[in-house]
Amino acid sequence: MGTVTNRRAFLSARMLRRKSDVIRPPGAIEDRFDDLCSACGDCAQACPEEIIAFGQDGYPFVQLQTSPCTFCGECARSCATGALEVDHMDAWPWRARVENTCLSLNGVSCRVCHDSCDHDAIRFKLQLGGRAQPVLDRDACAGCGACAASCPAGAIALERQSEHQSKAAQ
Ligand code: SF4
Ligand code: SF4
Ligand code: SF4
Repeated sequence: MGTVTNRRAFLSARMLRRKSDVIRPPGAIEDRFDDLCSACGDCAQACPEEIIAFGQDGYPFVQLQTSPCTFCGECARSCATGALEVDHMDAWPWRARVENTCLSLNGVSCRVCHDSCDHDAIRFKLQLGGRAQPVLDRDACAGCGACAASCPAGAIALERQSEHQSKAAQ
């Protein structure tokens, strides 16, 4: 019995972790999203960048690996249920993270992410052996995903900024 309970707890913890990895459209009321969102698809229809898709859970998410989000707010304005709120768009918690597969980190000259970032949030630190390490300025990063969409190595992911990091940045 104890084993079953532990397994259930483990599985539900995994589901929660996976849910928190999903990038909901800007303005999402995340703690009540499943209750508020009717999965009507209006946000996806409204997005001029066509970056809102529907996941296996039936709810919308943003694919920043294909095109950046301009934070135009059309998705939130189109939402009739209150699952997305324009006033809540400032709470966007996502920031870029460069993975080890970065070309520049591995000695191949590349500055595409720097060039695509309108916020000047990525600089390079020269290292030995012709390598250069991309360094992200989390305060400057808007989490738009322009770098991720343009990276030829697919080496940029968007990760949730933790509460601790948000407070440290204030
Ligand atoms: S804010 Fe604009 S670009 Fe970003 S997901 Fe919403 S509709 Fe699309
Ligand atoms: S665009 Fe991608 S591969 Fe190029 S430097 Fe940036 S993270 Fe590295
Ligand atoms: S997510 Fe946007 S603001 Fe942040 S580093 Fe990438 S391009 Fe710049």
